[in-house]
Amino acid sequence: MKVKSRILSLFLAFFIIFSFIPISFAENVGDINEYKIDIKLNHNEKILNGKETLVFKNNYNRELKEIVFHLYPDSYNDIKTMPALSFLGIEGEVKLAKEELGDIHIEKVLVNKKNIKYTQDKEVLKISLDKPLKQGEKLDISMDFTLKIPFGRNRLGFYEDVYSLTNWYPMLSIYDEKTGKWDENPYHPVGESNYSDVANYNVHLTVPKDMVVAPTGSIIDEKIEGLNKTLNIKAENVRDFVFMMSPKYKVLTKEIDGVKLYNYYLPGDKKQNSAQILLDEAGKAVSFLNKKIGKYAYDELRIAETGLLGGAMEYPQIVQMGFYQPIDGYEEEYIPSILEMVVHEVIHQWWYVGVGNNEYKEPFLDESLTVFTTAYYFENEYGKYNNRAVNMKIRRSIYESEIPALNSSVDDFKDFDSYVHTIYTKGPQFFEDLRKRVGEEKFTKILQNYYKKFLFKNATIVDLLNTIEEVAGKGIRKTMEVAVSKPNYFPQNIQLTQEEDRAMEVENKKKYLSKKEKENGLVVGSLILRCLNGEEIVFVKPNNLSQIDAKLMDYFIENMSEELQQIYGLNIKVVEENRLTEKDKLKNLIVFGYPKKSSIMNKIGPKLPINPNSDEIVINNIKIKNENISGMFIAENPYNKKKLSLIIFLDESNTQDDSFMFNYNPLYNDGIQFILNVNGKKNVQIKGMYK
Ligand SMILES: [Zn+2]
Repeated sequence: MKVKSRILSLFLAFFIIFSFIPISFAENVGDINEYKIDIKLNHNEKILNGKETLVFKNNYNRELKEIVFHLYPDSYNDIKTMPALSFLGIEGEVKLAKEELGDIHIEKVLVNKKNIKYTQDKEVLKISLDKPLKQGEKLDISMDFTLKIPFGRNRLGFYEDVYSLTNWYPMLSIYDEKTGKWDENPYHPVGESNYSDVANYNVHLTVPKDMVVAPTGSIIDEKIEGLNKTLNIKAENVRDFVFMMSPKYKVLTKEIDGVKLYNYYLPGDKKQNSAQILLDEAGKAVSFLNKKIGKYAYDELRIAETGLLGGAMEYPQIVQMGFYQPIDGYEEEYIPSILEMVVHEVIHQWWYVGVGNNEYKEPFLDESLTVFTTAYYFENEYGKYNNRAVNMKIRRSIYESEIPALNSSVDDFKDFDSYVHTIYTKGPQFFEDLRKRVGEEKFTKILQNYYKKFLFKNATIVDLLNTIEEVAGKGIRKTMEVAVSKPNYFPQNIQLTQEEDRAMEVENKKKYLSKKEKENGLVVGSLILRCLNGEEIVFVKPNNLSQIDAKLMDYFIENMSEELQQIYGLNIKVVEENRLTEKDKLKNLIVFGYPKKSSIMNKIGPKLPINPNSDEIVINNIKIKNENISGMFIAENPYNKKKLSLIIFLDESNTQDDSFMFNYNPLYNDGIQFILNVNGKKNVQIKGMYK
């Protein structure tokens, strides 16, 4: 949508200004480069034969003597340079099998239809021009290439009937006018290295006719010839062109604010369900960003399930996911990581795809901002106590650690962990720090301006700082400049306070227990829920236990009290049985002891769903002889039906096992109504619901 209206307004401008000059619109539409790529897949050999033509215009302020293309597939030549998303499973000296190696070979290069000298080395193709190309001049570069697609679970590869074609073709590099050098960085094994200008693509792809293709851009046309089909795909104003494909793909679609969303998924248990949940969440994220940051720049966005291991990846108009897992029935307050992942990649459509940057030099710019915006999305959509929201994901992990400056480049990090810690954990704190300093309104203004100003362009950290200054002033800019450029960034000012931390725990536990109650009725956890809602709990402590049991009881009380106090800031009142007042009896009670010796159990036993003093215990029509039985159960408090009682009764003839402390602690077995332990030789435990 945005792309189309942009071209239209450009057209109008040109029409008015240049209508008297007899040159065609197409040649003057702008400085954008045009790729034409014709490729054919050899499905058996996993080889792609291609011809790429690029109409290149020198938009730089210098003459160019050579033109440089990235040949990222060559990073798959060797395990040392292979950009694996995760290092799972790669330990020690590993040699890749021949089919796991990837490779691109340039067959020939023509410039303006003439053969020309070129070199292919270190993931770079260098074309030496016969005569320098002046500013504003154009030339036609065309090349034939052969791509060997590696077998494997990385960004580029073939795995379980899915092709992932990312970083796969000769891609024009970017020339730095300041240094007078082309960017020749290879794809770094750590992090990402994408850095390119937006271009238009016109691709003809020939594949077996049953292949379902998920590309950047739009499929304009599909022609079947024999066993093959040829697709014509067009993409405008994109900084890369990628596609995933599989003969097994099924597709779900959805439309959000005029953007068509697709999810390509593989057959399998509950996969369609997962695909639908992921698609819906992606749709919510698109809608959120449209409102909060600025409208999505394209009219189609695809998500595709692939064999990718260790995460997911963002590309223009397409998200590369790993295999989908069943995710139905998740709790909203515990969003599963795959949902966070899809939102993260959708947000990259704004940061990296929309506003580009040099991911090799300044990974902070798109990656840290995307991590922050993801948490920001969950805060807005699911509340500040959500497990994926800012409080939990960003403010909770603020501690001192030795890290390089946030503005480090990928090759500055000593290892993968240091990169992840700096860019994914520390970097996002910068944006929360900024939000705290400037307030919500100015903060969103900064993001909106940054998006608007640098959409379809490549931004730098300096551009971000300038935008901060424009909205929030010089002082803030200076502070944030220090934050991003000094090592060991540690924004103590946004650390979660103890009160906030507790409030979050309380809120989440409440949500969790309310859900248990809603599903099951009264449960052991209901007692804790009452406590979290401000009601008092009285622990009735007997004084007639054996020495060992008394000691265990003290541990039990200590454990439970400590946990309630430290995590939730709550207290329970402990009262000796013989000092219990009539007023105490009306509260929520935990009654503890030997049934025969407990005056309270004796009194209220007959009114309870399980009478610990009867000769036999009947549960779900099963009768159990009341011998050597210990256990616990929840019930209304017979003294006051508005309150609850948790009865924990011990077997006087047997010393209790240590583990009863954990079993009977209402903070743990919270979703059930009772536990009974038949002690002695059999040692059987039954637990569940008594009604
Ligand atoms: Zn990312």
